[in-house]
Amino acid sequence: MSNNKKRLTAAAHVWANEWQHLEGRQLLETVINGPLAGRVAVSSSFGAESAVLLDMVAGIDRTIPVIFIDTGRLFAETLGYRDRLTAHLGLRDVRTVKADEKSINDADPNGDLYLSNPDACCNVRKVIPNASEVSGFDVIITGRKSFHGGERSNLLTAERSGWQIKLNPLAHWSQTRIEETFLLRQLPRHPLVDSGYRSIGCSTCTHKAAAKAGVRAGRWCGQQKTECGIHTIALA
Ligand code: SF4
Repeated sequence: MSNNKKRLTAAAHVWANEWQHLEGRQLLETVINGPLAGRVAVSSSFGAESAVLLDMVAGIDRTIPVIFIDTGRLFAETLGYRDRLTAHLGLRDVRTVKADEKSINDADPNGDLYLSNPDACCNVRKVIPNASEVSGFDVIITGRKSFHGGERSNLLTAERSGWQIKLNPLAHWSQTRIEETFLLRQLPRHPLVDSGYRSIGCSTCTHKAAAKAGVRAGRWCGQQKTECGIHTIALA
């Protein structure tokens, strides 16, 4: 571990504890303009609810890097929405990150790894390329919310993740508050939301979810898997 990372690890403990008492825009402003200014990035899937966080970030600083992982298996609608929302919000540094072709061909020569070993598929298409990109930042902002359930149920607004800090400004927001913000801010919706998709990842592993089911019920249906790993695996 480099000296910079060691220093951050010590300070991160203090900052993460302080920042846990903040949320939403107040938390974002504190961190984006705080001691780690310039070392902060956003992780976004440009999914069903992503516009709320991105709108808030854009209202503070449109130049903050936004990291978007393109697995090669995304819905065409997601790629179109990324471009439309980027233009709508005036985001200036959206970075589309992909695994290199050789890594994918080596790990998944037949293109069906998602059926036999989805963790390995997420690892090569998402976790590894994401780790390479986010390792250049000290704070990663996510749009995760505790009402999504599962491993997100006890989410904090700021948490240590290895030597980094994960910031979850919407951790304690309700679904109603998200919907109200879409209306209030007149934010464009992902086109698949109207078709019944409530959480949107790869087309091969995403299904529509009933209104009464959990928001993420349509992800990896019928499997124990609930997370791709980009937010749950800490950098060493
Ligand atoms: S969500 Fe499915 S297709 Fe996408 S990377 Fe994970 S296992 Fe592979």
